[in-house]
Amino acid sequence: MSSTSPAIASSVTPGPSATPVATRESWLLEATARLAASVFSPLGYTVPPIQVSVGYASTGLRSSAIGQCWSRASAEDGLNHVFISPSLGSAYAVIDTLAHELVHAVDDCQHKHGKAFKTIALAIGLQGPMRSASAGPALKKRLEALLVELPPYPHGRIKWSPRPRVTVSPPRARCEQCGYRVSVPKRFLHLGPPMCPVHKSAMETLGAWEHT
Ligand SMILES: [Zn+2]
Ligand SMILES: [Zn+2]
Repeated sequence: MSSTSPAIASSVTPGPSATPVATRESWLLEATARLAASVFSPLGYTVPPIQVSVGYASTGLRSSAIGQCWSRASAEDGLNHVFISPSLGSAYAVIDTLAHELVHAVDDCQHKHGKAFKTIALAIGLQGPMRSASAGPALKKRLEALLVELPPYPHGRIKWSPRPRVTVSPPRARCEQCGYRVSVPKRFLHLGPPMCPVHKSAMETLGAWEHT
């Protein structure tokens, strides 16, 4: 069956005000342009030109990463390269993940999920732990409105998923501001997360704090 057959074409019928798109990359570039113009730009943040594709993160199939952004210095074309996991099927999950990755692109991946990232992320309306920050209620409404203007996301989710891990990662703590990390012995978990020696603020908990 050719890619221009009616059956295929109808599965990507564009929305009312949208330009038809044939590939996931063109959809992602269009979504990027709209996010840049309507979410980042009004706050004074410039989304740089990016490459954006569907692909698994370099952390591998077993990682829980659903998106990845590479710094400009990592690529020969000097652009940020963003990858959106093929395990995401819904257009909403994709644009939500894209918004998170664009924060990394604005920061050129210089501060991971630290303070500079958090400032931009919170400003555009992401919330939750920064490593998995996703749209809060206000940004969610705007993303849903953007999706109405975009054609359907032309992708079928890859259904493979890793078997749940049976090993639980040991309890650790990490400073969200500077990345300082320590392991925390189980017998001290009840005292709560330690303070960062630099920032004197409570560190983020990682690993199995709840499994004690
Ligand atoms: Zn991130
Ligand atoms: Zn710190």
